Amino acid sequence: MEKIEVLKDVFGLSSFREGQEDLIDHILGGKDVLGIMPTGGGKSLCYQLPSMMLEGTTLVISPLISLMKDQVASLTQAGIRAAYINSSLSYQEYDQILEAAKEGYYKLIYVAPERLLNERFIDVANQMNITMITVDEAHCVSQWGHNFRPSYLRVPEFVKRLGTRPIISAFTATATKQVKEDIIEKLELTSPFLMVTGFNRKNLYFHVEQPKDKFKATLDYVTLNLDKSGVIYCSTRKNVEDVNERLQAEGIRSTRYHAGLSESERHKNQDDFIYDRSPVIIATNAFGMGIDKSNVAYVIHYNMPKNLESYYQEAGRAGRDGEPAECLLFYSGQDVRTNQFIIEKSEVPSDDGTELDPKTIKALKEKELELLKKMTFFCFTKYCLRQNLLNYFGEKSEAFCGNCSNCKAISKEVDITVDAQKIISCILRTDQTYGTTMIVNILRGSRNQKILEQKLDQVSTYGLMTDQSVQEITNRIEHLIAQGYIDSLNNQYAVLKVKSKSLALLKGKKKLKMPVRNEDAVAYSPLQSVDKSINRPLNQELFGQLKNVRNTLAKKEKVPAYIIFPDTTLKEMVRKMPATAEEFRRINGVGNVKLEKYGRIFLDVLNGH
Ligand code: ADP
Ligand code: ZN
Repeated sequence: MEKIEVLKDVFGLSSFREGQEDLIDHILGGKDVLGIMPTGGGKSLCYQLPSMMLEGTTLVISPLISLMKDQVASLTQAGIRAAYINSSLSYQEYDQILEAAKEGYYKLIYVAPERLLNERFIDVANQMNITMITVDEAHCVSQWGHNFRPSYLRVPEFVKRLGTRPIISAFTATATKQVKEDIIEKLELTSPFLMVTGFNRKNLYFHVEQPKDKFKATLDYVTLNLDKSGVIYCSTRKNVEDVNERLQAEGIRSTRYHAGLSESERHKNQDDFIYDRSPVIIATNAFGMGIDKSNVAYVIHYNMPKNLESYYQEAGRAGRDGEPAECLLFYSGQDVRTNQFIIEKSEVPSDDGTELDPKTIKALKEKELELLKKMTFFCFTKYCLRQNLLNYFGEKSEAFCGNCSNCKAISKEVDITVDAQKIISCILRTDQTYGTTMIVNILRGSRNQKILEQKLDQVSTYGLMTDQSVQEITNRIEHLIAQGYIDSLNNQYAVLKVKSKSLALLKGKKKLKMPVRNEDAVAYSPLQSVDKSINRPLNQELFGQLKNVRNTLAKKEKVPAYIIFPDTTLKEMVRKMPATAEEFRRINGVGNVKLEKYGRIFLDVLNGH
């Protein structure tokens, strides 16, 4: 079968998304690959589809039990033989799965990393025909990532214990340079094909604010968006309880989600949210993994998360359907301290039971604090929030996106080429040995003691910018840093260094503009953005009927409803009103197995309408 046929017949999809086809082609050509795509980008398909076309079995290394369960349920629904191996299995179940695996029964087996080096598992693995190993959430191998799992480091050891080396494909949503390099090195990928798809989610509006009263800001927003579905993330269970209680007291149909609740309550609350019975869910970061609710219109961060990876992943759960959606972050200084406390007190992961030595633990925590600093900086930057995020993920972008709270507050751009030349020259003339404060003082012609002592009043750039305020010059320096013209060293004095990119500026071959805030402008408030109806006109009654049918089937099959069909598939049914099996098959999300199993049932409802 051709891959486009597998795409439709097995997965029910009509075309590839950005990056998918290239990754799949390289895998099928026998190459190692590393795929970096944002949350919701469609990473699973990149290994699931080729696994259907390769001989033998694909082994998927995955860090989360809930994620594995979800994926296996979803594959089984599509008629693909899949299983998972993790600590949730009884010995008997484990035994049965290994026996069937030996016989080559499964196309995909999900396995927790700490299970790999189990002798029995290695023995069975050697009797199987493993043609590909997929490392999902591959950033877990990196100490620079936000989710280090020591047992990921032992993947190469496992690979070496296999008779022949399978293709290795790795996937992650973390695209920082260090993590990327770490993955390639630590997983020992062999000249891998690298695909980094765009991280920009154009339909998301980013907003950072420091409200005097967070709860009031939240309530105001939610009240103005009652017809929409949203997630409110809090950093602690206590906050979740508190916000939920107070919103309910105001008559909001909200629900809650955190690890302190019983499994059945978590399940129920999550379902209430997915089925729009509770349009708002207040949750800790335990919520969201593997959940594919596409019509989330807003995500509010009631507290600042501890790093930008977590932030972008959580905020990214808004607007998966491509409709305009809003991501609001309500910052307070307390959030920084809470996060510092969490990091300092946290148990360092040792998923396979090995003790990490104190030095490693210390280094890990320092890195986490470093990531926290960048998160905090995001809350304070005056420049484009989208640019800050994209640059963090290693992607170049425009300095002005027009769709974030900072861009909305900017009134104009000014040409600062000449100022930039003065600043850069000043740094060069003083041998790149000073930080921002000194450079500003020299340019402003300050007569402070340090300047006079070091005879800095004799350098040619002394007093070149006497007409500008300290703040204005500092802003320009920050802009030059943000735009990559100069570097601020990571040492005590934050010494400024000129980067090669500055040459063109110095020579006058390039102009530089800087956005300037209009001091009189009222900060843009998302509350003023009316008229962004997320719900296109849709026959709600029919949609409701289809959801009921889906519910019944989900109960019967004991799977979450979206695994039968996601909302988007049901909506497409309502819009396109397929009347025949052939037309039904054209709906996105309908493959052969699902057509066979559910086609008749849904068509009856549609035809009866
Ligand atoms: P990720 O793992 O990158 O976060 P998933 O693999 O879970 O993302 O995919 C996110 C959603 O996108 C899923 O609902 C999936 O069915 C859908 N999807 C993936 N590829 C395609 C495609 N080519 N066409 C339409 N939908 C797709
Ligand atoms: Zn912007």
